[in-house]
Amino acid sequence: MGATLFRKVWDAHTVRTLPSGQTQLFVGLHLVHEVTSPQAFDMLRQHGWRVAFPERTFATVDHILPTDSLRRPFIDVMAEEMTAALERNCREFGIPLTMPDSGQQGIVHVIGPELGLTQPGMTIACGDSHTSTHGALGALAFGIGTSQVRDVLASQCLALEPPKVRRIDISGRLAPGVYAKDVILTIIRRLGVHGGVGYAYEYGGPVIDRMTIDERMTICNMSIEGGARAGYINPDETTFAFLRGRRFAPSGDAFDRAVAWWRTIASDADADYDDRVVIDAATIEPTVTWGINPGQSVGVGEPIPNTGRDAATDEALAFMDLAPGRPVAGTPIDVAFIGSCTNGRLSDLEEAARIVRGRRVAPGVKALVVPGSQTVSRDAEKRGLDEIFRRAGFEWRGAGCSMCLGMNTDRLEGRQVCASSSNRNFKGRQGSPTGRTLLMSPAMVAAAAIAGRVVDVRTMLEEVPA
Ligand code: SF4
Repeated sequence: MGATLFRKVWDAHTVRTLPSGQTQLFVGLHLVHEVTSPQAFDMLRQHGWRVAFPERTFATVDHILPTDSLRRPFIDVMAEEMTAALERNCREFGIPLTMPDSGQQGIVHVIGPELGLTQPGMTIACGDSHTSTHGALGALAFGIGTSQVRDVLASQCLALEPPKVRRIDISGRLAPGVYAKDVILTIIRRLGVHGGVGYAYEYGGPVIDRMTIDERMTICNMSIEGGARAGYINPDETTFAFLRGRRFAPSGDAFDRAVAWWRTIASDADADYDDRVVIDAATIEPTVTWGINPGQSVGVGEPIPNTGRDAATDEALAFMDLAPGRPVAGTPIDVAFIGSCTNGRLSDLEEAARIVRGRRVAPGVKALVVPGSQTVSRDAEKRGLDEIFRRAGFEWRGAGCSMCLGMNTDRLEGRQVCASSSNRNFKGRQGSPTGRTLLMSPAMVAAAAIAGRVVDVRTMLEEVPA
């Protein structure tokens, strides 16, 4: 029986089995940002420790940045203090830091792959839940808490329980207007937000094989929302082509040697999995969340559930105050947000711009596009996407996490309803304790911005204005 990529990479990075039964795992790359690192650096200072492998550590600023103006000092005192603390810590501990003046700053899970830092067969850790994104390139990537950030800074190791591996195949072919976001929302809806607890998810099958790396990142990004400890996709020719020529990827002969090794770490054809799931792509529709976790979703043609099904549904319906039993399509929105580490990449903006071109944002809707990185922003501007969005009435912002979470100046107000391409619809996630988030693909967000309500993007794809 062959081995999974998970088993091969885990074994290759195992230092030893700890008395607790956990594995001491060496971390190939530690990504750091301003929110979960200050206390970890303070703990290092208290103990008089150094960073064990600064060359395997890379920092950026993303969560708290004001995306409307990056002029320092930031008007938001908290943002300025946290940014300055990260600068001080990186200087003192010798860690490379990407700031906005570098032209390469962005959301940590966007710039890692973009710069070629993320590579197949690596173990990666970051103090952010959505670190699973990096699994799209065949890495084992774990979101960690602040005390583990300290552990990795001090020792470059993590103590982890080995999870089981569930293979999820997406068979068939996606219909036009159905995107990677719809695939992962459907996976989470069918397997549940706790369905992945104790598992790593390996995604595969013809639909995944045909996906670009951007699309694969959308899939892996939300593994954590389905309860999985990590999510990954076996590296293939698409992966190698994506990495060739990137700043931190190997070059020349070293690249060819790396590819030869990367091929060997993919799961074997006869690998043994702890569980297998197959989902037929033909059953996946453009998908919209109606509740307060990413598993509470329906296809755009389906109704919002009625009360009385279970306590979680009733709690969500009471908070969201939408229309139970009525189609989710037609739900009015106040805000449209295109961005985040789930869907803030160039191809996401291109798909959204296809919908927006030649149309206008509905009166009363606040619409934002926030590129995931400065590189995405520049590439989009070269293609004229910024102008398409601006002309339609969208705000075109600087790179950062923005309205994915309420830690910066981009926030919902009161009971606003936001069509969002981000990954979490928890109560209060977008900054207002009573604000309501509907997760969907960037193209669906664009369609909702134009219509002023949730609408099936496929109807707009059919009628793209000249
Ligand atoms: S975009 Fe959202 S999920 Fe991604 S790193 Fe930023 S805050 Fe976390």
